Amino acid sequence: MSELYQQTSTICALATAVGGAVAILRISGPQAIALAGRLWQGHQALSVAAERVLHLGRLEQAGGGVIDAQCLAVKMPGPHSYTGEDVVELHCHGGALVAHLALQELLAAGCRLAEPGEFSQRAFLNGKLDLTQAEAVADLISAGSEMALRLANQQLEGNFGRRLTGVYHQLTAIRTEIESRLDFPEEDLDWQAPEALRSCLSALGQELRSWSGSRRQGEILRHGIALCLAGEPNVGKSSLLNIILGHDRAIVSETPGTTRDSIEVPVSIRGIPLRLVDTAGLRAAGDSIERQGIERSQQNIAAAAVVLWVMEAAGDLAAQMAACPAAPDKVIYVANKADKLLGEPPLAPSDQLVYTCALSGKGLEQLYDALEKRVWQGKCCSGNEFAVSARHAEALDQAAGNLQEAVGQLSVEAWELAAAALQQAQAALGSITGLSVSPDILGGIFTRFCIGK
Ligand code: GDP
Repeated sequence: MSELYQQTSTICALATAVGGAVAILRISGPQAIALAGRLWQGHQALSVAAERVLHLGRLEQAGGGVIDAQCLAVKMPGPHSYTGEDVVELHCHGGALVAHLALQELLAAGCRLAEPGEFSQRAFLNGKLDLTQAEAVADLISAGSEMALRLANQQLEGNFGRRLTGVYHQLTAIRTEIESRLDFPEEDLDWQAPEALRSCLSALGQELRSWSGSRRQGEILRHGIALCLAGEPNVGKSSLLNIILGHDRAIVSETPGTTRDSIEVPVSIRGIPLRLVDTAGLRAAGDSIERQGIERSQQNIAAAAVVLWVMEAAGDLAAQMAACPAAPDKVIYVANKADKLLGEPPLAPSDQLVYTCALSGKGLEQLYDALEKRVWQGKCCSGNEFAVSARHAEALDQAAGNLQEAVGQLSVEAWELAAAALQQAQAALGSITGLSVSPDILGGIFTRFCIGK
């Protein structure tokens, strides 16, 4: 292991958000038990207390003051811990001061404050998690919908990493065979026919490409999509937002032009994590504050992946649709106030045009159907085992390209070049699981984490 990865220091961090009822301090490293034992005092010393059991004690300052008269401590000696090292967690009363003083004591005793994601990085370096699992930890924390959560958990359980490792081993076997042909060209060993190798590699390449094909779903689930509610003033945008959210987050008013600012709310609809933006009504602006709001709403419309263009169902729909500033392929036209329609709707409802009543919620399911179709574009990942990230997809495409190259080389019996292409494919796959990954990629991954994770 390189100098860079030596984990001789003992790190500590607050693992919980400030302000909660309980603050958890996490300590990991060779001195974790000794250093935590200096400020935590229980019936027994931490060094001899039972493992993986919470012990009640108190946190004391080296100078004699009490930081917390009731603090639970648990020790998890390596390798059976999250990081694979000795880990101690101190569960003290919440409140910024207790945690701050306890951290100060730990630092004074010789701990170092952990970098963002350093606990997870140590877990990876100690073989407790592969890189896809470590990334899943970050995804889990930021998951914006149940579907995103389910995929993050599956990745955390190692499904994706195992499948990749399976392919990696298959490539090793094929490479070994190819290399033995190079080493023992005269021997008539029990080699597979080149056609068999080629079709096996082609199938693996297709599998990798099919995984990388889930990139769009993966991006949506990891980052959510921006959905913008826009339209003329008073058509019912804020009322729709409220009924979607189920509570009064936006201000609904009977005077046109009062939704001046745009508000962004994270919301999950049918498992899709959305950043829902309600914009100021688009109409000729009165005062300058309103003009700013309108400018912002135009920016929001431009930035959104999907625009719900809200209209008056009883008004001139064609004219209102024509007034929408967004490209039609990202718009779902929402004819609201459908309760005011007398008789049949003037235009047939479709995936692009839905009728709603924001007061009763009627038509909302049809709106969600249309949204779901628009977002997934026929490729929903609810049944998928995994949906890859951009980083994964790039490496998978790279590996699939290398396999294709290997197939080409095999067809002209260029064994050496085929073996080299397979090696490159393995390096690309290894960069996903972390088997072969450069320090800067690692750094990029772990800095996404919060401190304490
Ligand atoms: P916004 O300016 O587009 O955000 O519109 P609001 O949500 O503030 O609604 C403007 C007015 O229309 C309010 O009085 C709402 O109660 C009313 N409204 C909204 N949706 C409906 C609807 O579906 N049917 C009826 N009848 N009135 C609605």
